[in-house]
Amino acid sequence: MKSHAKAVVIGGGVVGCSVLYHLARAGWTDVMLIERSELTSGSSWHAAGGFHTLNGDPNVAKLQAYTVQLYKELEELSGQSCSLHLTGGVMLADSPERMDFLRLAHAKGRYLGMDTELITPSEAKAMFPLMDESHFVGAMWDPVEGHLDPSCTTHAYAKAARKLGAEIVLRNRVVDLTQEPDGTWNVVTEQGTVKAEHVVNCGGLWAREVGRMVGVELPLLAMEHMYLLTEPMPEVEAFNKETGREMVGVLDFKGEIYTRQERNGVLLGTYEKACKPWSPVNTPWDFGHELLIPDLDRIAPSLEVGFRHFPGIANAGIKQVINGPFTFAPDGNPLVGPVQGLTNFWCACAVMAGFSQGGGVGLALSNWMVNGDPGFDVWGMDVARFGEWASLRYTNAKVRENYSRRFSIRFPNEELPAARPAQTTPLYDTMVASNAVMGDSWGLETPLWFAPKGTEPKDIVSFHRSNDFGPIGEEVRAVRERVGVTEIANFAKYEVSGPGAEAFLNRLMTNRMPKVGRIVLTPMLNEFGKLIGDFTIAHAGDDRFMVWSSSAAQKYHMRWFEKHLPGDGSVRIHRFDQTLVGLSIAGPKAQALLQKLVDVDVSSKAFRFMDFREMAVGGAPAMVNRITYTGDLGYEIWMQPAYQRLVYKAIKEAGAEFGIVDFGMRALLSMRLEKNFPTWFRELRPIYGPFEGGMERFVRLEKNDFIGRDAAAKELEAGPKLKRVSFVVDALDADVMGDEPIWAKVSTDYGTVEKPHGYGAPRFDAKGKEVRVSAADEGASSVRGIVDGDWRVVGWVTSGGYAHYVGQSMAQGYVPAALAGNESDGLFEIEILGKRRPARIKIEPLFDPGGERMRG
Ligand SMILES: Cc1cc2nc3c(=O)[nH]c(=O)nc-3n(C[C@H](O)[C@H](O)[C@H](O)COP(=O)(O)OP(=O)(O)OC[C@H]3O[C@@H](n4cnc5c(N)ncnc54)[C@H](O)[C@@H]3O)c2cc1C
Repeated sequence: MKSHAKAVVIGGGVVGCSVLYHLARAGWTDVMLIERSELTSGSSWHAAGGFHTLNGDPNVAKLQAYTVQLYKELEELSGQSCSLHLTGGVMLADSPERMDFLRLAHAKGRYLGMDTELITPSEAKAMFPLMDESHFVGAMWDPVEGHLDPSCTTHAYAKAARKLGAEIVLRNRVVDLTQEPDGTWNVVTEQGTVKAEHVVNCGGLWAREVGRMVGVELPLLAMEHMYLLTEPMPEVEAFNKETGREMVGVLDFKGEIYTRQERNGVLLGTYEKACKPWSPVNTPWDFGHELLIPDLDRIAPSLEVGFRHFPGIANAGIKQVINGPFTFAPDGNPLVGPVQGLTNFWCACAVMAGFSQGGGVGLALSNWMVNGDPGFDVWGMDVARFGEWASLRYTNAKVRENYSRRFSIRFPNEELPAARPAQTTPLYDTMVASNAVMGDSWGLETPLWFAPKGTEPKDIVSFHRSNDFGPIGEEVRAVRERVGVTEIANFAKYEVSGPGAEAFLNRLMTNRMPKVGRIVLTPMLNEFGKLIGDFTIAHAGDDRFMVWSSSAAQKYHMRWFEKHLPGDGSVRIHRFDQTLVGLSIAGPKAQALLQKLVDVDVSSKAFRFMDFREMAVGGAPAMVNRITYTGDLGYEIWMQPAYQRLVYKAIKEAGAEFGIVDFGMRALLSMRLEKNFPTWFRELRPIYGPFEGGMERFVRLEKNDFIGRDAAAKELEAGPKLKRVSFVVDALDADVMGDEPIWAKVSTDYGTVEKPHGYGAPRFDAKGKEVRVSAADEGASSVRGIVDGDWRVVGWVTSGGYAHYVGQSMAQGYVPAALAGNESDGLFEIEILGKRRPARIKIEPLFDPGGERMRG
């Protein structure tokens, strides 16, 4: 074993081996993988080996598509077969809601390059004859699904990495990690210490233990998971003989079951409701190539449904039941990236679908380590997306919820209950008493909307407009016509101070820093000129700036700030989290209301739009920003939590004469739609440039040399490829939810959406006859799904909903820049739940286009 390496990867499961391979492929050949036992000794060896592309997050779906594509290349490079079976798969819908879910997934697949197709239950049966089609209303076919041999695949990564120069050390546990003052890691192993610049935690079942070596409690938990293998089945053998091919994979949401052919029988696995964590606090180091005791009673309810849906399987003999543990993060997606607060300590763990995601995780992480950027939008798997509230117990509750809902529909207006409330503001009880429907905003309870008195404060979950529609409309109209108050504690808040603070912020942000007492809005870019943040910054006093941004991005942003902090101690950053809370008042009477609460002049002359001032509000020391996300006359008032009840009470009492109402996050989001305001993580993400995102007003290329300036200048010079636009949509009873394809009546291929890629997967007709067999057909079918007569998919929706004050259904999304200025009727359609609805671009906001209301 060598004593130095550029990077040490801890763990030889499929993820560690993929990371090692990708690092070596990216040019870091001085890399080493250290494995406690043999390769695959964690969860990798007993996986069912299934893979698919579909994921709720389109960006994670892309990385899954990459993983599947990689296998052929990997086999060639390593000389090791992965035993790939690219059978394709069907997802079965048993209800209209599930069919809506499939329609959404299919529509999303259009711009992601997925080649899915909605089919009938009989067509599905032609591919999987063991099912009883009478239980289903429809299905979705995905040609890019299949299964492989988990052990062979892990070894294929390892062999390919070795060929590129990487070293793999087996039977050697990493027992400790320490760091030298110069940042060098000491990787202390049973066989000695290795010095490394970078350490990657790919510890799988032991990733928590590896995290604890550096003082980090990673939010992941292993769950027991069972699948069974049947004896050979004559029906399977007959199908294979008759058609000359293997049966496809099947996902039955209702039965919480996945099943597929395995040799001449089937494999059937289930994500049961009565799920069970494994080793909830510590994973024993001596757990090896062993299985857990099966517990068929636990999965009996799923099996009962499954056997009804697949009577062919009910009669088969069970050969073996596998029960093994594997890890999940609270939301089921991996934990990838550098850990905030540490230098060069990386994670690639909680990968619950290593054979769908392992390749993409390896690619993104290696890009990140070698080039400083993952090269993709990996927010959905970024380890920074969880805050301190994601404790061991939080994780336990959420992982169990996530596991037991793995095949349940998550509706766009659905808030999940586990591990809540986690954090609350002092107003929590007041909000609940006011009939607020609360939501979870980065671990903080936040009012979403207020149910009418006498009704249950609860969302009726749906893909369509629901019971919040009327009350949100009332809240919006009350704000726009009178005044409203809402909690805004769910923003990120920082103080950046010290003699170097202004220069530091000027280096990070695209906008020039404001004068004392003034506020600016500013994006933040990475070196590649892509959007990595959107901030409101107030110059609070000499060398002191108050900074606000998206709550969920707190760790993500702190990681970036820390990376760029000058080493001379001239800049201090304080993250307030919930030690600073806020209330926002907005509406035409907001100024008169504020005036009643303060002892200074807050007229529009004395306290202008985009001013910042410290003042006592309702008797409490506060910081006040003259700005709100409603796009109306309004203020954000920030205070210590101890004063929040006092300020709220004062606002409500003083506001009574103006008819003040409480409004929630959903009304706020509705109001921002009619102002064309973007949101972070929907419209603004690291895949877009500032000019694509319509942020040009906040980019000062002529100021000092900020990070990403050259790339942004190039984007401007070349002209952005895409443009963010707002649409009015002729929606029926459902508004856009995000990720819908945007169709345009154009003959030009703008190259803005991916071409469907079936990877030469087989396709079958309703009789089970294969109609496409090879990649040679790709040319002919390359536009299938994204071109329809005169129409073609040119872009995608990022978010939207109903803009209640202007009474229009609205959407925001990205389209080719050449189309972004065209407000014509009949040019665009947006696909909502499988139906294409006419849509028109609106360049000017529908509410107060001149901004007179905001300026007051
Ligand atoms: C029953 C079952 C069925 C599954 N089916 C599928 C499926 O069909 N498709 C799919 O994609 N996924 C499936 N999975 C999940 C899949 O197994 C995991 O996603 C995958 O194994 C995760 O790999 P990993 O490399 O992250 O972790 P692991 O496989 O757990 O590997 C971690 C490795 O790190 C080593 N290690 C840990 N700590 C140290 C240390 N301190 N020093 C040295 N070495 C260390 C361990 O020995 C281990 O080898 C299934 C899992 C189970 C249990």
